Amino acid sequence: MNCNANKSIECTVSQCAHHCTSSNYCSLDKIMVGTHEANPSMDQCTDCMSFRKK
Ligand code: SF4
Repeated sequence: MNCNANKSIECTVSQCAHHCTSSNYCSLDKIMVGTHEANPSMDQCTDCMSFRKK
């Protein structure tokens, strides 16, 4: 399967439908990053809101 890797968006979440399985890049032109915390204080507090389950 061809994947249009966006070299500006590195990603290791291979379970995402937008992930380029053969390389650690996202295939989307852009993504939305958000948070599930009221006061985010570390990288674990942030989420890719563009994630879609494979
Ligand atoms: S949508 Fe988000 S989680 Fe999915 S491959 Fe792109 S950057 Fe990774």
